[in-house]
Order: sequence, then C-alpha cells, then structure tokens
Amino acid sequence: MSLDTPADLLAYDRAHVWHPYTSPTLPAPVRLVTGAAGVRLRLESPDEPSTEVIDAMSSWWAAIHGYRVPELDAALAAQTRDMAHVMFGGLTHAPAVRLVERLVAMTPAPLQHAFLADSGSVAVEVALKMVLQHQRGQGRPERTRLLTVLGGYHGDTLGCMSTCDPVGGMHTMFTGTLPRQVFAERPPAQGADAAMVETWADGVRTVAASHAHELAGIIVEPLLQGAGGMHAYDARCLQVLREVADEHGLVLVFDEIATGFGRTGELFVSGGTARVTPDILCLGKALTGGYLTLAAVLTTPDVAEGIAASESGVLMHGPTFMGNPLACAVALASLDLLEARDWRADVARINAGLRAGLEPLRERPGVADVRTLGAVGVVQLDHPVDVAKATDAALEEGVWLRPFRDLVYTMPPYACGDDDVAAITRAIGRAVEVA
Ligand SMILES: *Cc1c(COP(=O)(O)O)cnc(C)c1O
Repeated sequence: MSLDTPADLLAYDRAHVWHPYTSPTLPAPVRLVTGAAGVRLRLESPDEPSTEVIDAMSSWWAAIHGYRVPELDAALAAQTRDMAHVMFGGLTHAPAVRLVERLVAMTPAPLQHAFLADSGSVAVEVALKMVLQHQRGQGRPERTRLLTVLGGYHGDTLGCMSTCDPVGGMHTMFTGTLPRQVFAERPPAQGADAAMVETWADGVRTVAASHAHELAGIIVEPLLQGAGGMHAYDARCLQVLREVADEHGLVLVFDEIATGFGRTGELFVSGGTARVTPDILCLGKALTGGYLTLAAVLTTPDVAEGIAASESGVLMHGPTFMGNPLACAVALASLDLLEARDWRADVARINAGLRAGLEPLRERPGVADVRTLGAVGVVQLDHPVDVAKATDAALEEGVWLRPFRDLVYTMPPYACGDDDVAAITRAIGRAVEVA
C-alpha cells in the first residue's frame, strides 16, 4: 500500500494508528506534521498548501528551545558516532555519568542519587517504588499508601494513575486494580489569603494524622498542577507538606516533570523561593529539550540507605533503555543551552507578554479565570472547550493549541520572540471566542 501523499498517510492513520486519549473507532482528527524548525511546525494537508504555525504547546511542554536546534542536533549526531544505545546493567558510559553529575549539581544539595528512567510515568513509578522500599527498609512494611491532593496528574501507568485526581483519572473504571491512595483537598490558588492556606493545612494535617499508620509518602506537583487542571497554587502549601512529611516519617516526592527546567520562572520549584526540598524529585519532559524520551528520579542518601536496607537490598527496577546515551547526550546539550541563554529573562519576558495578551480576556463572556505563572498562560472557561473549533480558530491565527476540558492554555518554547507570544495570545483570544 502506498503511503506517499498526505491523504494516504492521514487515511491509514485514521484506520490504524492510536493517538493519545482517543477512540480507536471514532478518532478525533489529526494533522500531519512534515517538519519543525525554530518555534514553528510545518503542517501539511491533502487539499491546501502547507502552513507554518507557532507551537504554543512546546510539544507537550518539552521543546523549550524549539525545533532543529543546531546545538542539540550536533550533540545527537556526535553521540551516534560513539553509540546509540547500550544496556545499562553492568555497563556505564560518559553521557549518563555526566548528565547525573549535572543534575546532582543543579538540584538541591541533599539529592545525590539519580535513576535515569525512560519516561515521566516510569520515573513516577520508580519514585513510588523507592518510597515503598524505603519504608520496608525502615521496618515499616505496612506503610504502603501515598498521600496526595485532588487535581493532580502524575502519568498514565497504573501506579501513577492511582495518584492522579480520582475523577480526572477515571478511577472508577479501574476499581480493584488501582492502589487506593489517600487524597487531601486541592491546595488553594496562588494569592490565596493566609486563612485559606491555614484551613487547607489543617485538612491535610488531619488526613495525614488519621492515616499515618499506613502512609509511606506524599506526592505532589509543586506549585503548578499541570494536566490535572493547570492550577497554580500557593507556595506556602509546600512548607506544610514538608512539615507533615517530617512529622509522620513520610517520604516527600515532588513531581517536577512539568515544572522543571525553568517553566515556572525558577529552575526548579524544589529548593527555590518556597525553600522546600523534597526527598525524591522526578524530572522529565524538558530534560532533553523535547528531543527524546528521558526522565530522572533523584533522591537523598537517607532514602537510598532505606532502600538498601529493604529485604532485596536493591531498587527493583531496570528498563531496557535505561540511561540511553543519545537521550543523555542531547539532555546535556539542552542543559548547556539553558545555561548559555538567559532563560530567566526569556521566561520573565514571555510571562509579561502572556499577561498583557491574556488579562483582557478576563472580561469576555464565558471566561471564568485567567492566570499566568512563568512561561505558562491559562484561560479557564465556564464550560468545556469545543476542542475542534478552538483548534481550528487558533490555526487560522497561525498557532497550534491543544485545549483540554475547560482550559485553553499555552506553554510556549522559551525561544519564542515577543511577536510569537503576541500571536499566541491573539490565537487564544480567537479560540476562546469560538469555544
Ligand atoms: C507529563 C507528566 C507525567 C508523565 O510523563 P510521561 O513522559 O508522559 O510519561 C508525569 N507527571 C507530570 C507532572 C507530568 O506533567
């Protein structure tokens, strides 16, 4: 069968290729991408000339430097001349060692041991295993549940799903299969008054105290809940979680797969202005600048020792593609680039552009809230978004958006210029109008 034209490709795709969160029999429409460069994707369709659109999603928050970045392309090419991949059991290599050295240096000092996982969800699974094995090593095998908050998202595999918001994560469909975790209320929004934070904190303390005998750890996305609703919350909540963890001997996990590498305006929330350091830190998404799938789980000597003291003495995990050299090499190049470019200034500039462009939408009918945090801009509607209509309207403005639920939002590449950011906010305005 020939798959030469856009029409052929799209027809076969529709019949056979599964896409994220779609029906196999009634798939939502997809667009064909034939290339990407800078902050733009080239879209091809059967009956129209190709178009170039700004990627306001950074390919699901990962492509922070944009596409076909010369430094990243070069790192990848150079690594292919040494080796694309070797197993990590019994072998090691410079790209992995150098990457871990970098991650240990750039994250809070107590985080000293790193596990290189092959995706964000796997990183969270590894973190959960670390928590459980650490508790076993402490002689507390009955401590098996995680405390988390409503509205979170930690990935799509079963262990991860159990920690996602029960409604958003459709827990009812998997009753009996998912581990049952303990949920506290969603933390109050950024800018909440002290009384609201205190009410929330009391709730968390009460839940933690009543389940302390069975709790092993706490897991949250610090400061910004991403796929669970793009909810930015008060940094004081993180201090409360640290206190609760310390009081009950729980391992505190921060899932910074979305917030890491500058997205919120800080390199990491961990150890940032909130002054809270977790016991386990998960990184992913932007780690390779969006080039390849790679994630990392960092932890403290204390947690590592607990794991070593558990009955197996080892962490029971080891993916086939662990520490993939190509991914490590491109991650190193991406971190170099992050440091070489003034990402702080870029994120601040993008934030100013998003604020200026999105704040006026607050007055529009159907808009419930507008919020920005670092290089994240969100318009929340008072109704579910008509995704097809919103996407089409944004594309007419030359921008690729992927709204979900009641949210039209952007997490643009840091490489976006001011004109790009203005185009994105215009496109969000149009999308909001038709959605
Ligand atoms: C995307 C995401 C994950 C899952 O990462 P994958 O690479 O898609 O498996 C986990 N946690 C958070 C906070 C995320 O944003």
